Amino acid sequence: MIDVKHLSKSFGDHLVLDDISEHIHPGEKVVVIGPSGSGKSTFLRCLNLLETPTAGTITFEGTPITDPKTNIDLVRRQMGMVFQHFNLFLNMTIRKNITLAPVRAKLMSQAEADDTATALLKRVGLAEKADAYPAQLSGGQKQRIAIVRALAMKPKVMLFDEPTSALDPEMVGEVLEVMKQLADEGMTMVVVTHEMGFAREVGSRVLFMDGGHILEQNEPHAFFANPKEPRTIEFLSKVL
Ligand code: ADP
Ligand code: MG
Repeated sequence: MIDVKHLSKSFGDHLVLDDISEHIHPGEKVVVIGPSGSGKSTFLRCLNLLETPTAGTITFEGTPITDPKTNIDLVRRQMGMVFQHFNLFLNMTIRKNITLAPVRAKLMSQAEADDTATALLKRVGLAEKADAYPAQLSGGQKQRIAIVRALAMKPKVMLFDEPTSALDPEMVGEVLEVMKQLADEGMTMVVVTHEMGFAREVGSRVLFMDGGHILEQNEPHAFFANPKEPRTIEFLSKVL
């Protein structure tokens, strides 16, 4: 589904991603872990061109998205993204947050989008919040709304950048539960997280990033039971 070839990214003369090649297959749940500053967010943001790669190519379902002739907005619609800090529109109701993008993109009429929003809100247990504003919600509720907002575009892949890192501990579970549901339904997912339980339970593959490289990867059981690289072992000894 996503094919990354020789991806490098520099900010000034700081090389942040160093020649990464990787495939993400339909239905996979790829969990990206690694120390702070290792390039996880930059890697994720390159996948939908929120960051422009310095070198290399990225192909999404056969479309070379790093080709300047590609209409990136059309591709981005198919790639939902959820951020650590929710990024909801604070001056809009929850319903409007969810319906704005699909209506603007002419994927749905307002009435269709409203129905979609109602169904999605029910699914995450927040049907009664449709007319509330983000400030009236808890962090966990806001993040569930951010997920639903991305899903309203009917994306083919969902990218998550530390979706639970800004939450109070008691709210982490409700967000992970929604992500698990989504995984069970077959969504292709790339998830940057420090939640090792989630990586183990939901991941089909774990990538360990360090210093702009994918240093090691494996299916979760083998990855956690038998890490090979010294840097991986050191990292896991700190987070497990
Ligand atoms: P991670 O998500 O693993 O913590 P990031 O991808 O956010 O790592 O950052 C990797 C490195 O790139 C860090 O050293 C960070 O300071 C740097 N970096 C990230 N974004 C920018 C930017 N917009 N401008 C300059 N440096 C950046
Ligand atoms: Mg990050």
